[in-house]
Amino acid sequence: MAKRQRTGIYLRPEVIVGNPGYIEALQEKLGLNLVIIFFAAALPDSVLAKSPFDGVPLSDACLEGLLIKHLDGGVVDPLEFDNARSCVGPAVRATAEETAVGSAVDALRKAGVEIWMCGGCYTERRLMYCPSNPAVNDWLEAVHVHSATAYDVDGLDVTHARYPMGSFPRGLFSCTCDHCRTRARELGYDMDEMIAALMAARERLRQIDGKLLSRACDLGMGFLDVAQALDLRSGVLDWYRFRADLLTENLSRFSRAVKSAAGEEMLFGADIHPASLSLFVGQDHATFHKFADFASPLVSHISAFLCNTLVEWARFLTRENQQIGEPEALRIVYRFLGYDGMGLPESIAEYRIDEPQTLAYRIPVQKLVMRDLVKARLLLSPELPSYPVIHGEGWPREAVDGIVEESRAVGHDGIIWQGTTDLVDFDLK
Ligand SMILES: [Zn+2]
Repeated sequence: MAKRQRTGIYLRPEVIVGNPGYIEALQEKLGLNLVIIFFAAALPDSVLAKSPFDGVPLSDACLEGLLIKHLDGGVVDPLEFDNARSCVGPAVRATAEETAVGSAVDALRKAGVEIWMCGGCYTERRLMYCPSNPAVNDWLEAVHVHSATAYDVDGLDVTHARYPMGSFPRGLFSCTCDHCRTRARELGYDMDEMIAALMAARERLRQIDGKLLSRACDLGMGFLDVAQALDLRSGVLDWYRFRADLLTENLSRFSRAVKSAAGEEMLFGADIHPASLSLFVGQDHATFHKFADFASPLVSHISAFLCNTLVEWARFLTRENQQIGEPEALRIVYRFLGYDGMGLPESIAEYRIDEPQTLAYRIPVQKLVMRDLVKARLLLSPELPSYPVIHGEGWPREAVDGIVEESRAVGHDGIIWQGTTDLVDFDLK
């Protein structure tokens, strides 16, 4: 595919329908040439018949049977169960805006912009459906094929095709269910060895001299130092490779199904987690081109994806090893996760993590985002078009302008906006 420059925005269909003139204003002020609509339409009976749910709402037993399992055997987190109960199957809500989707597509066609449909996948914040469960994958394939073919759209943009974000550490150590055990074997991995290696690394972290670890970290530790410090076995790396291989295979299957139903010209792509952390959620930049016509580095969620993760891991370290205090834990986390040296907060309190809407004013947001965008461009195949997702509201304007300019300079191919109130003066209803 030619590397087309795109300026896009995510919009719900009812926003497009309820705000005549908005798309034209975005075309004029931002050079908008792409709109990504969230799929919110009713599904035909032929697709609904493939739902792995046993009803709406589904039973607790059915839900637990579909969710990922932590390596301790428990479920990952029951917090999002109510969301699941309001769905007809994984990632599709029971409430549908049929008319709005059709009218929105018509309005966008008239405006002359490219249209991508955005569909969900395995995760809903902390909740995740097992990516090895055949019923889950049959359902998602049917939903993706339907949303790419039921309306006049140019592409399918899959979101939430990942494991739970790093700020929910239990998600990092899932899924170990029987389906995943089988898939691991098929992909050449040994589930028992991976679990044993993860447990051994954790035990080592608990026993290591935390004071010396902090000091060595401040002096400068590299990848091989960490391998020795935690006595890492290959099973630890295998665990993260296995999860990424699994998602790459599944997305390749969805991509083939969509193109075989809608034609080769139908684009297929997905958003991707901030590069420094993406292997922790099963997303491998280096293999994205195997199934995707484009990638959208999702660097807009600076609190949920990034800062909350840094804070949670620092807390985890202080709990695991009593000799590591909070400031040291933050420094270790910044260094090991690739965010050191940019002036991130020295204490957890400074983040004021419960006020995410103003977080961009307390951290060096441009440096933070650019660090992941430089890595993303380095790691993605050079031929794969890349459209970073950033905020056009709630971030300092000079940081937004700086990110747009710098990301083009390092080779990204445009921007996808999440919100535009700070960029375009339009009274949105
Ligand atoms: Zn599983």
